[in-house]
Amino acid sequence: MDYYVGIDIGSTAIKIAVIDELGELKASSISATGSSYYNNTKDALELLLSRNDIENGDIKYTVSTGYGRKLYKDSDEICNEITANAVGVKHINKENNIRTIINIGGQDSKVILLDEAGDVKNFVMNDKCAAGTGRFLEMAARTLEVDISELSDLHFKLQGSPVQISSTCAVFAESEIISLLAKGKAKEEIVAGIHYSIARRIARLADRLGLEDSILFDGGTALNKGVLDALKDELMRDVIVSENCQVTTAIGAALIAMKSVNGIT
Ligand code: ADP
Repeated sequence: MDYYVGIDIGSTAIKIAVIDELGELKASSISATGSSYYNNTKDALELLLSRNDIENGDIKYTVSTGYGRKLYKDSDEICNEITANAVGVKHINKENNIRTIINIGGQDSKVILLDEAGDVKNFVMNDKCAAGTGRFLEMAARTLEVDISELSDLHFKLQGSPVQISSTCAVFAESEIISLLAKGKAKEEIVAGIHYSIARRIARLADRLGLEDSILFDGGTALNKGVLDALKDELMRDVIVSENCQVTTAIGAALIAMKSVNGIT
């Protein structure tokens, strides 16, 4: 069996997808990016292949994408993550009804409009400010002394209203969270406030493009159902999350790898 590999080297996590010659997902992994992009990517790939009994020689082509894509020199090709994200979504979206992708990663957020063929029509990106990204949530989780995976449960525990986070900068927001805790605000009020503040930023970003239904939310932050809830509220639209939301872009890169070899995605 021939396999194709897509590697999405993000600011926070390395996502790897291995697809077979039919384009089906055979294996995937998510691991921390850390500070050594090349070594950590190489180790993550070796581990994924050995765990799934795939020989190096069975890998026909590798495409890397994401923030650190140029640092993984063993790839056959690199591609930009907007294209890879769209290709990944086109593949999982069998009904071909997704027209907008909202991707919130560790260090940036993007809104991507797709045309009727599922190809990129337009996009906007925020990579200047951490306040609308997963990094903001990581900082908040650290300050609140909870795991990133607990933010969603805290969000849904909220009985009253979320607090208003007024800081427009992640650095000031950290001080604001500390001062809200000192005023006796509950963690769930603060967490929901942060989720709404991210959702409002995404809504403003999306306003620059104009949203089209159906909307799919992906990237690691889509694992947080609290952010999803706040997004639906702020956008006043339904938003769906796919099963492999953090790996969609890596799947897209693997499909691009397959296309480079045999011309078919
Ligand atoms: P990047 O491509 O920039 O590395 P990802 O798309 O991998 O970013 O998303 C990373 C973000 O995903 C983190 O900053 C964090 O907010 C969020 N995240 C990761 N794992 C979880 C989890 N188990 N629960 C909730 N959020 C998560």
